[in-house]
Amino acid sequence: MKLLFCIVCNDIFALDLEKRECKCKQCSGKYVDQRNITYTGPGKVLGINNTKFFNALSIVNVLPNIEVGLFFIKDDHETINKI
Ligand SMILES: [Zn+2]
Repeated sequence: MKLLFCIVCNDIFALDLEKRECKCKQCSGKYVDQRNITYTGPGKVLGINNTKFFNALSIVNVLPNIEVGLFFIKDDHETINKI
């Protein structure tokens, strides 16, 4: 799962097949298929390890402080197209 963080307004949002934008409207992006995204603006792409996230979600009521593995993805990554 990929998210976009705007370094201007500090908004962070999950990307989707429909274009989404941050609160200040300077960053926007979307998935172009199930794996690859395109985005524009002063942002940083973040990823969440899907397996860790959904495993954590299934036990969050028992372990409320469980970590989910959020990481930055560089613009030159094969799944990123910054325009
Ligand atoms: Zn913004």
